[in-house]
Amino acid sequence: MKMKGQVYKSTGSWYDVKGEDGITYQSRLRGKFKQEGIKVNNPIAVGDFVEVIPDEQHENSGLITEIQNRENYIIRKSTRKNGFSHILAANVDQALLLATVSFPRTSQGFIDRFLVSAESFRIPALVIFNKKDLLNEKELDKTFDLCAMYDHIGYETDLISAQTEEGLETIKKHLKGKTTLIAGHSGVGKSTLLNKLIPGLAQKTGEVSTFANKGTHTTTFAEMFEVDAETKIIDTPGIKELGLVDMEASEISHYFPEMRQYIGECRFNNCLHVNEPGCKVIEALEEGEIFEERYMSYLSMLQDYDSHR
Ligand code: GDP
Ligand code: ZN
Repeated sequence: MKMKGQVYKSTGSWYDVKGEDGITYQSRLRGKFKQEGIKVNNPIAVGDFVEVIPDEQHENSGLITEIQNRENYIIRKSTRKNGFSHILAANVDQALLLATVSFPRTSQGFIDRFLVSAESFRIPALVIFNKKDLLNEKELDKTFDLCAMYDHIGYETDLISAQTEEGLETIKKHLKGKTTLIAGHSGVGKSTLLNKLIPGLAQKTGEVSTFANKGTHTTTFAEMFEVDAETKIIDTPGIKELGLVDMEASEISHYFPEMRQYIGECRFNNCLHVNEPGCKVIEALEEGEIFEERYMSYLSMLQDYDSHR
């Protein structure tokens, strides 16, 4: 008998689908699931709502027969031309970046790229700084400044310590009732935080990775966990950046919320806000309406974009 379910884990050809009956069915796809316009190597992703038919012969296995329309999805484009893209997760309510001002340092440029990605997928984002207990006064000030800046732009922020559990209750409030994708550099304390949030999760917490193994590439899959029945977390092991949707250079600024209100008033409608006459973004920057640090991130993203053409 067919029932609704949701994909919690995918390992390529097998999918863990939690059915309405609370049972997890290891499932395969029935037939081909084609998607309009995009070439993907995984037609079904973590977070997808599906129809599953439990297998009468084999306990806890099933067949996925249908996929429901998605609210949204995060897609990583193949780096090869005409390669297949990978859908990282679907139906995500918000994306949380776990960052650290020190041990290791998460750069502001990295945070801004994450936020632009989330904007491009139309997923609300929040930035949570971890390891409060390790920060000296100067680092604390730096973190508070960053929080104030992102708050001002409209992103929720917080400073916590996953280890001492300071701020853990606030994090739980941020997550309550939602499906949250969590990302961050290796070593920021993601496993530590997940272990505190997810009952029964016995995830290894490793050492801060050294420079030597930072670049290693491992193929890992996203997985969804329950904090409670309505509160879910999608972990993306090994994923540092979310990537971006296809866009024109002139669209990048649209994903900086504080620039949006000025963009339409620039003299040229394809203005890149670099040195064009009649640019309202530059004007706003000069008047202090736009944070210089954010504008620098914007320029750097624009430059990356150009060099990848
Ligand atoms: P991940 O790579 O992001 O999963 O990071 P881990 O959770 O493995 O944490 C990396 C290291 O930082 C481990 O040694 C943790 O014990 C430590 N750590 C994580 N959170 C905190 C924190 O809030 N304070 C301190 N002092 N250490 C932390
Ligand atoms: Zn402009």
